[in-house]
Amino acid sequence: MAVKSPEHYLKRAKAMRPRVFMDGKLVEDITEHPVTRTVVEANLASYEWALDPEGGKVLTRPSHLTGEPCNIYNTLNRSTDDLIQRAAAGLYAAEHLGTCIYRCVGCDAFNSLAATTYEMDQALDTSYHGRLMDFLRYVQDEDLTVAGAMTEPRGRRDQKLQQWTDPDLSLHVVDRNDKGIVVRGAKINISGAYACDWTIVMPSGARRAGEEDYAVSFAVPNGEKGVTYICQYTPYSAEREMAEDPWELGNPRFGQRETSMIVFEDVFVPWERVFLCGETRYAGRIVTRFAQIHRMVCGGSCKVGFGKILIGAARLIQEYKGLEKVPHINDQMTEMITLLETVRACSKAAAIEGKEVVPGSGVYVPDDLLGNVSKLNICNAFWRMMALAGDIGGGLLVTMPSLKELKNPETRRYLEKFYSFGADVPAENILKITKLLQNWTAGLHGVGTWHGAGPVQAQKIMVQRLADYEEMKELAMKMAGIPEPAPSQEEAS
Ligand SMILES: Cc1cc2nc3c(=O)[nH]c(=O)nc-3n(C[C@H](O)[C@H](O)[C@H](O)COP(=O)(O)OP(=O)(O)OC[C@H]3O[C@@H](n4cnc5c(N)ncnc54)[C@H](O)[C@@H]3O)c2cc1C
Repeated sequence: MAVKSPEHYLKRAKAMRPRVFMDGKLVEDITEHPVTRTVVEANLASYEWALDPEGGKVLTRPSHLTGEPCNIYNTLNRSTDDLIQRAAAGLYAAEHLGTCIYRCVGCDAFNSLAATTYEMDQALDTSYHGRLMDFLRYVQDEDLTVAGAMTEPRGRRDQKLQQWTDPDLSLHVVDRNDKGIVVRGAKINISGAYACDWTIVMPSGARRAGEEDYAVSFAVPNGEKGVTYICQYTPYSAEREMAEDPWELGNPRFGQRETSMIVFEDVFVPWERVFLCGETRYAGRIVTRFAQIHRMVCGGSCKVGFGKILIGAARLIQEYKGLEKVPHINDQMTEMITLLETVRACSKAAAIEGKEVVPGSGVYVPDDLLGNVSKLNICNAFWRMMALAGDIGGGLLVTMPSLKELKNPETRRYLEKFYSFGADVPAENILKITKLLQNWTAGLHGVGTWHGAGPVQAQKIMVQRLADYEEMKELAMKMAGIPEPAPSQEEAS
């Protein structure tokens, strides 16, 4: 049985001893620290859903290697139906967590690598694909959690990689022998890796001749020698650390989207776990195919889950305040739903119009143009939804007192009297929903949505590249009665 219980994961997480730092201090136990624990909880939830009769329909599917049911995050997309399910899983996870599903980047990395290693083996007679499939099978059999790491510190962007004074600003191979390779460098902004069993590392961009050492992809187990995780630290982290009870935090169990920098100090990787090493031509393809899948999910399904929570909270506040019949508020609600549904439709269409990316690989990727448009739309739509929900929530979103006041006998009665809108709604409910909405409107999610899966300019470049202007010009010319230019001699021959 390839779908394991949450207890299996928790037992492993308790045994994990990664070198993790947060706020200048070593984290002794990731399952106990109040912030890192939220990542463990999100991973636990992914096991709970897989065993739930309803959740399991979305979160599991058979392995193409063994036929056994697996957690969807450890499987490949092998048809457009699989892509539709992948998008649905992103939505399901986001609306149940209100934060990242930390197995998402690893899943999309598996898919991108599956297509590209297949292509490399065909063209170069390498054996990367078989290695990757062996690793995937092991991950499936044990039902392991896998994070994905692409983004790097990098040097000045107006210089070439070789011009950077510090070669480690991009992760690279520093040694190799018959047993494996040794890598050095760092990855940044990596979601949840310190609590995942493995991390798949990918190159962060296209590589050219002379950059062979930087064209590298591999898998590394949690807590490997030489690996250090330095966690993000935000006001929300501090607040969680100071909280007497997560009850007061808006999203008590799962918290914020947690990332870390991962430092690799001469880390040894055996050849069995290396999926690209020196083949510069394929580095960019890994990145592009990864982005192609990840933008559909990250842009069009997981942010829709977040948006549903945001709209739900705004709607509750609208009702608590007795604003149900106010036209401009309903107009704002309508605008939010329209934005969200447009993005969801775009993501689903990207899945429906997906295709096999490398003939024979069996790996399907979403339609590139629709996936990029979906991500591009949500980047702007999310800021807009934050503004609209912020208007409905009122100033209390940023001025509310701590929920701790409700546990203080001296202040509780004031809050109950003055923060209940004189209605039949307990002040505790009003303040909890307001706190939840504070997370969504006045916190980390605007920038997080913008940059996760690549900043807007990356999608704009893709839209320019993928738009079929020729077809559109032809339509316009036909409509205007302009004759098509005669084919050139070269075209005619
Ligand atoms: C919440 C969150 C979770 C994430 N999780 C992961 C993860 O799990 N794994 C992972 O690999 N990554 C992850 N990321 C990283 C994410 O993909 C990057 O943040 C994103 O690609 C932007 O890169 P950057 O942060 O380095 O910003 P930059 O690249 O510094 O971008 C800043 C601005 O500079 C512009 N710019 C940058 N370089 C150039 C250039 N060469 N030419 C012109 N303009 C340029 C950009 O367009 C943008 O406008 C996550 C990010 C967030 C916010």
